[in-house]
Amino acid sequence: MRLPERITITEVGPRDGLQNEDLFFETPRKLELIARLAAAGLRRIEAASFVSPAAIPQMRDAREVITQVPRWPGVTYVALVPNERGARDAIAAGADELATVVSASETHNRRNVNRTIEESLAGIEKVAELAAAAALPWAGYVSTAFGCPYEGAVAPAQVLRVAARLRALGAYAVALGDTIGSADPRQVHTLVREVRDGLPDVPLRLHFHDTRGTGLANVLAAMDEGVASFDGSVGGLGGCPYAPGAAGNVATEDLVYMAHRMGIATGVDLAALIDVARWVESLVGRALPGRIKGAGEAVLRDSA
Ligand code: ZN
Repeated sequence: MRLPERITITEVGPRDGLQNEDLFFETPRKLELIARLAAAGLRRIEAASFVSPAAIPQMRDAREVITQVPRWPGVTYVALVPNERGARDAIAAGADELATVVSASETHNRRNVNRTIEESLAGIEKVAELAAAAALPWAGYVSTAFGCPYEGAVAPAQVLRVAARLRALGAYAVALGDTIGSADPRQVHTLVREVRDGLPDVPLRLHFHDTRGTGLANVLAAMDEGVASFDGSVGGLGGCPYAPGAAGNVATEDLVYMAHRMGIATGVDLAALIDVARWVESLVGRALPGRIKGAGEAVLRDSA
């Protein structure tokens, strides 16, 4: 098995996590969460989504969050932007990096944002122009890359087509999203190979949901294909809009634990991250799906 020496983690709990939680985190709570994650060593944090407040009320304070979040040397705050307007607002608020999303599945894209894939890509072209003018990097997410809640299987060639379009528009990296948490490790091997062979110069990131318990196995399969960049959500915060009650993203602390045990550096202080996960649990008032719960787990860690 090929393993990277180091992985880069993008913490998406404050965005993908919180937007799938019922409880609204007031702005100061969000700011505290982000500050604690940065203090635990996370250097890339998806801090907000500049979506319509009517569509996702959890993100209605995106501007305040990005404006007020404490700045740490070397910490990149990513803002998800669904359209040109969101990009303008995110840039004005001071986001360090933008993330755009388009689905690999036509039906999911229509149901999700009421646009065709082509229409979404046209919108992303506008976002790319704004990002370029502001000298901000942006990454392109291909959601439902491993399966669609409406169409079922998604062809790897289709994922590659969308990824190639994002790259052509200027995405510095492409993220493959297992939006519904249906991916399995063999599929990860196949899809990553297909995209990497088609776009050999494009840094890939993998965004797994642990809906069905295959999250870490999928991470491992992606590592074996040379991927060294992953999304995680502290505590496994969040869920899946298509599977009520399901776990959220791969829990960041579980990902860090596994990496450190295998001698893969993350830069994250596992004990500090576990503390954050437990604090988040106390706020949401339920046990989060992350498996690493106690400080005793942290002493098992290798040096990061
Ligand atoms: Zn997600």
